[in-house]
Amino acid sequence: MALPSDSRAPLLANYVERSKDRIVATLADWVRIPSISADPAHRRDLETSAELCANLLREAGLRNVAVLPTGTPAGPGGPAVYGDWLDAGPTALTALVYCHHDVQPADPLKEPWSSPPFEPVVNDGVMWGRGTSDDKGQVMAQIEAARGLLLERGSLPVNLKFLVEGEEELGSPHLEALLEHHRDQFAADVVIVADTTMLAPGTPSTSIAMRGLVAFDIALRTAKTDLHSGTWGGTVPNAALLAARLASSLHDADNRVTLPGFYDRVRELSGAEAAAFAAVPFDEEVYKGQAGVAYLEGEAGRTPLERTGTRPTAEVVGIHAGYAGPGIKTIVPAEANLKLALRLVPDQVPDEVEASLRAWLAERVPRGCEVRITRHGGVKPLVTPLAHPAMKALATAIKRVFGVPPLLTREGGSGPEESLSRVLQAPVIALGVSLATDNFHAPDEHFDLGQLWQGVLAGAELLIELGKLEDVHGQLPGD
Ligand SMILES: [Zn+2]
Repeated sequence: MALPSDSRAPLLANYVERSKDRIVATLADWVRIPSISADPAHRRDLETSAELCANLLREAGLRNVAVLPTGTPAGPGGPAVYGDWLDAGPTALTALVYCHHDVQPADPLKEPWSSPPFEPVVNDGVMWGRGTSDDKGQVMAQIEAARGLLLERGSLPVNLKFLVEGEEELGSPHLEALLEHHRDQFAADVVIVADTTMLAPGTPSTSIAMRGLVAFDIALRTAKTDLHSGTWGGTVPNAALLAARLASSLHDADNRVTLPGFYDRVRELSGAEAAAFAAVPFDEEVYKGQAGVAYLEGEAGRTPLERTGTRPTAEVVGIHAGYAGPGIKTIVPAEANLKLALRLVPDQVPDEVEASLRAWLAERVPRGCEVRITRHGGVKPLVTPLAHPAMKALATAIKRVFGVPPLLTREGGSGPEESLSRVLQAPVIALGVSLATDNFHAPDEHFDLGQLWQGVLAGAELLIELGKLEDVHGQLPGD
């Protein structure tokens, strides 16, 4: 992406210098609250965390700050926090910052933490503790960007909204309902996600795509009950064997998925997309080491980065059949269960993939065998249109703070970003400043404070750049 050269210093440089102690102390207070969304015993902590977040938004100068309950009284979800500043006027762009204040459990403590997870310590410019990187440190960066701009300039260049979710680590079970319910309140021209990583310090990057996801639980039954392998074996269908045959025929000799039409809608990258993607560094030995595997496999003719970033995949996530107890049992199993998880890329559609799977099974499961398919999820793939003016604003802001424009990465996983983009009808851009080596979701989570300061600076520059944009109203994602 060609960017104009500009050497202006980041606007909030002085603000950050004189605010460091306060910001670190505030972040430490927040990290001390074990806002673990997965554990009902921490319900009160989740509420305390939401209240602290609401106070931070208020102190920053945001208005209409509210803690928004989610779920139902019978099954309450993690509370979200909202706040806005809407005085930039009706013609100014509106941006919504999405991030989350809940954290992963500290357990399982297979490897012990070097310091207690909810007693943050700062060492050599790094803060250690659960939630420092994912995501409280990143939330702080964006709140401080708004606070600094309001303090230095008395106003923001855009209308700004914050949505800080309280159950992202659970897979955002109530986010879609929350977005639907507050669709008008949350309406925005662009969504800024502050919950992603950069490749390395000095190598800024932004994620421009996430894969979709649809999963299936396939229950197979070949007989009324398990049968004696001596009396019946070799003459009747075996459910375990059927499941194994299905699993082994899911890919062809080139490791391509055999569901009919599976690749029909897969979009090849454009020239600009391919060039940007090719610039992302990849070290196969490091990658294998991180995974703890001896070799890599996958779709023929595609690199590992392509396989996880731009190509769809189908994984067998479980096969259960027959006798699994101690010793042996001489049976022909009557039941089997096969679980599949499919990651999708633009323009694949979960409903079409389901239809294709059903056709594939109909062809392979013999008549008289019972098949029950339960579908789980159905997240569509998401890609940020590179040509959208908000992408250029993001690249300009990152270059001004980090010295170089961001590399454009693609996430293999799937997240709430697709819901945000679809329900709010706005493109999603990612200004995450965590590092992949921060140990989020693992013991010894930490956050590089250098990334935090650059996150504040870049957050402010992004709002300034977005403030220069006109005429982005009405541009739909995918344009
Ligand atoms: Zn996160």
